[in-house]
Amino acid sequence: MSRAIYWFRNDLRIEDNEGLVKAAVNNKEVVPVYVLDKVWLNEKLLGIERMGPFRLKFLLESLIDLKASLQNIGSDLHFVIGDPVDEINRIRREFHCSKVYAQKACAYEEEQQEEAIAKFVSTEFIWGETLYHLDDLPIQLNELPNIFTEFRKLAEKKSSIREEIAAPLFIKTPEGIGSDIPNMEALGFEDIEADERTVLHFKGGATAGKERLQYYLWDKELLTNYKQTRNGLIGGDYSSKFSPWLANGSLSPRQIFWQIKKFERYVKKNSSTYWLVFELIWRDYFHFVAKRFGNKIYQRTGILGRDNIDWGNSKLFHLWVEGRTKEPFVDANMREMNATGFMSNRGRQNVASYLAYNMRIDWLLGAAYFEKMLIDYDPCSNYGNWIYIAGVGNDPRGGRAFNIKRQVDMYDPKGEYQELWQH
Ligand SMILES: Cc1cc2nc3c(=O)[nH]c(=O)nc-3n(C[C@H](O)[C@H](O)[C@H](O)COP(=O)(O)OP(=O)(O)OC[C@H]3O[C@@H](n4cnc5c(N)ncnc54)[C@H](O)[C@@H]3O)c2cc1C
Repeated sequence: MSRAIYWFRNDLRIEDNEGLVKAAVNNKEVVPVYVLDKVWLNEKLLGIERMGPFRLKFLLESLIDLKASLQNIGSDLHFVIGDPVDEINRIRREFHCSKVYAQKACAYEEEQQEEAIAKFVSTEFIWGETLYHLDDLPIQLNELPNIFTEFRKLAEKKSSIREEIAAPLFIKTPEGIGSDIPNMEALGFEDIEADERTVLHFKGGATAGKERLQYYLWDKELLTNYKQTRNGLIGGDYSSKFSPWLANGSLSPRQIFWQIKKFERYVKKNSSTYWLVFELIWRDYFHFVAKRFGNKIYQRTGILGRDNIDWGNSKLFHLWVEGRTKEPFVDANMREMNATGFMSNRGRQNVASYLAYNMRIDWLLGAAYFEKMLIDYDPCSNYGNWIYIAGVGNDPRGGRAFNIKRQVDMYDPKGEYQELWQH
């Protein structure tokens, strides 16, 4: 009797999950597993914890929701903490699984895990993180353009987006599978609530992700004005806030795309509806960049190998972290992230630029701090954006230094955002 592991990674959903369907169709029994990587709980990067409480809480909520949806189709989720490679090896032995299925990762550490697992068991890693399927790109990965616009035009012209995949109706899972998802305290974290000024009370899981999609598109039709509002700073409505669900895969980019298409057909099609897709293509681009350039995007010298930048010293880094640089717009954004786990795109661009260009502090420290703090942390989008701003990415045109005063004049002219987060 064939029995396989389905290893959930950044695809914490049962809908539009090709790998899960494959595992269910091709095997009599499936053991759904999630391994909380102990590195995230115990290790530091440049002296900074890998995962802070906001993302952990969101992740645990996402897993509870995933477990419930698996139980609804006759299955369950086996949750463990440890090294993913060791745990998958142990579980496949314990439950006599002959194959491991999982979503293919774009990020370097996760790809390394795939290679290690493939050494001891038959594996199938299925593409699913991006809107455009890797196999549908009109180019090879090593031909990926160094400029986003060129990539976007190619993809839009010569590729198309696949249909969503329906959730499996039933998954047969062996006895003894299923373990409780721990709470924050059990993992050594204090339970945390975002500050009441938060843009949104984010709740993890596909159920909450779909509710957000429903709200943003159908209930309030906010999508209609996305292009005009997307650079906002205050409140839940200025941008979609889909990023945390996309980051751990509670929502897939295709699910969002096809809802946008439906919206365009039945409600309105305009530059705003297009622009949300445009942003999802940015997300795709950084995933393909990460896949192409491997661990270079996590190195100070970046893709270009630029070792001629003097990053000064990092003595004043803590002022940036704590929101005490005396640049009010930067400080307000850092305080928001520290208190809620979220920061707007406009804010992220400005604080990143300020660290790299005004303070001349190693961008890698800033990226590591974002990794810890952001509820929507995604290795490809985070490091991809940081190298782009710091000027060490693949874009030949150099970095992106923002004039903070001008940005404030444009995006917070009355100082409302800075006032909201002055403490
Ligand atoms: C220095 C820096 C670090 C970042 N780190 C992350 C990160 O760790 N995780 C993350 O998801 N995003 C990251 N971003 C991108 C962007 O800021 C967020 O995706 C966005 O602010 C999330 O809010 P939203 O969902 O309301 O975005 P919307 O404006 O509603 O956009 C819709 C979706 O498009 C995608 N998107 C939009 N802008 C970008 C972008 N510049 N790069 C990649 N994808 C984009 C996101 O998936 C987002 O959810 C970073 C940007 C910067 C400048």
